[in-house]
Amino acid sequence: MIRHRPPAEVLLDYATGTAPMPLAVLVATHLSLCPESRAEVRALEAIGGALLDSLAPVAPAPDALAAIFKRIDAGEVPQQELPRVVPDGVVPPPLADYLPGGLDALAWRRLIGGLRQAELPFSTATHKASLLRIAGGRGIPHHTHRGDEYILVLDGAFSDEFGHYARGDVAIFNETVTHHPVADADNACLCLMVTEGPVRLTSWWGRFINPFLR
Ligand code: ZN
Repeated sequence: MIRHRPPAEVLLDYATGTAPMPLAVLVATHLSLCPESRAEVRALEAIGGALLDSLAPVAPAPDALAAIFKRIDAGEVPQQELPRVVPDGVVPPPLADYLPGGLDALAWRRLIGGLRQAELPFSTATHKASLLRIAGGRGIPHHTHRGDEYILVLDGAFSDEFGHYARGDVAIFNETVTHHPVADADNACLCLMVTEGPVRLTSWWGRFINPFLR
């Protein structure tokens, strides 16, 4: 059961198509694992549609509608389809769609402390997307953040000062938070991570790996 779901504003950004690409992939992948969040996105879309309907009508330019239909016909206006549900498989779609060679084909970098990280091909200038694998019982050193950090657990689980996060859970942290995530002892934890800026490690030894973990 998923206990940590993204807040409504994050789902709303996804529903309205304003979320940056890495975050949209993270939310979409969460949706494929979480019926509750899917229902919430559907409800937000319905509210958005009702709001649009209630706006005072403005006569469109005569050729505006024709232009829109032309764009739809040309495939320029994709119809949003919510991700389908997958009962198992470590990497669910839509993230899996970006990993045609699977996890093993990624360029994994080995960091100290039982961490491995692979950057994903859909990072942007402002939001970096990566997969992070934490060995069982190991952790990310104490750190704070420069901007928001979004973590979706894909396999295993981790705990920090704020909770315990398992498959499908989304954890969001910001620059006011310092924490120390540790994977459950019995299994490695695989996470999809989206960060706005490099994390800032707060322990003296952690600063040695700071240039790598971002
Ligand atoms: Zn963090």
